[in-house]
Amino acid sequence: MDTLLAGPAGFALTSVDAYEPLIGSEAVARIRRKADRLRGMHVVNVNSTYYGGGVATILSSLTLLMNAAGIRTGWRVIQGRPDFFSITKKMHNALQGGEINLSRIKREIYESVVFENAVRMHLAHDAVIIHDPQPLPLIRHFRRQAPWIWRCHVDLSHPNAELWAYLAGFVEQYDAVVFSLPEYAQKLTPPQRFIMPAIDPFATTNRDLPESEIAARLKHYDIPTDLPLVVQVSRFDKWKDPQGVIDAFRLARREVDARLVLVGNVATDDPEGQAIFESLCRQHDDRIRILSVQDSAFVNALQRRAAVVLQKSTREGFGLTVTEAMWKGTPVIGGRAGGIRHQIEDGVNGFLVETVPQAAARIVQLLADAPLRARLGAGARETVRERFLMTRLMEEWLDLLGGFETRFQLRANAPAGG
Ligand code: UDP
Repeated sequence: MDTLLAGPAGFALTSVDAYEPLIGSEAVARIRRKADRLRGMHVVNVNSTYYGGGVATILSSLTLLMNAAGIRTGWRVIQGRPDFFSITKKMHNALQGGEINLSRIKREIYESVVFENAVRMHLAHDAVIIHDPQPLPLIRHFRRQAPWIWRCHVDLSHPNAELWAYLAGFVEQYDAVVFSLPEYAQKLTPPQRFIMPAIDPFATTNRDLPESEIAARLKHYDIPTDLPLVVQVSRFDKWKDPQGVIDAFRLARREVDARLVLVGNVATDDPEGQAIFESLCRQHDDRIRILSVQDSAFVNALQRRAAVVLQKSTREGFGLTVTEAMWKGTPVIGGRAGGIRHQIEDGVNGFLVETVPQAAARIVQLLADAPLRARLGAGARETVRERFLMTRLMEEWLDLLGGFETRFQLRANAPAGG
């Protein structure tokens, strides 16, 4: 086996120690102890896109932090043609409550592409973590020697019954299932755990940015800063309600002047994004900018410079864009849905809304009241510091992985020389 050179010049991994100023030395020591018990364990994550969307954002940081703590954590991305991802996107929509025509041909394409990926995926790990529905059936193609965990990130508050019945056949084969929230629990035999996602404060999206860099990023995309900015950052996806954002902004504009910037990206496993982006672009005008780019520093700059961030989702597994804006001390108006409700406490560290007029009223209120923005923003940052940093997520995974009787644990506990 080729081994990684230790710390080649100019490259450094963020380790748990870097979080000390944010979470304190006791928490750092506790997490390090838990990680030390699993040092050398070999874990693999499998998902369906390397960028675009929260799962990729989490894996980018969590896998590195785990490796920095000595847990050999890999990340693989399954390959699929557009027809495969068109089917899995329909499944994603149906899991969040949409309709689906689950035809035989769709199931055949889904299952056969996953089989092809299984053939290419040589697994000899101590734990296997499969993310979301796209690679879910992989499990049926392996003679298992390690725990397999299905980590589902979507909003499962109203899953389509027919689709869930079909997918449950695969889910039942897993050793454990992880959902983001207790309200997503399903009737299943495997044990279910609930772990909320978290952000990496040192990632390009979240790290501190000097004013000059913020200004340069906004200038690069021709975003004027003469008026307050109202911002939503999300994939172009109907559940993020981009049309509701535009409608709320237009309503608010009857009373206040501002600019709306709607920024999204298109993930490789989300073939609907481009069409949604194009349909929104018709509404572009002097006060409404709609951009499709993949630029984490730009996201960071916008979330920092915005007077108000919106995340008007109608379904939301968790909503990392909410966490990211809150971390920057920016007040967020979030849809009362899924994980957003677990991050925003209405009136304390942001606002929760259900309708377009409610969102418009909160935009008007926030733009007119700088002290209110500052108070909610300060509460928001503190909420994230306490509950939504990557170290908390890592610790929950360490607890979960440490709880299995894996080959790794057996090896680690074997008598020396035995
Ligand atoms: N994101 C991005 N550029 C964009 C839109 C989103 O980098 O134009 C990132 C965003 O910063 C966040 C993630 O994609 O880290 C979205 O995660 P979230 O949980 O909000 O939603 P999901 O896309 O997973 O439904």
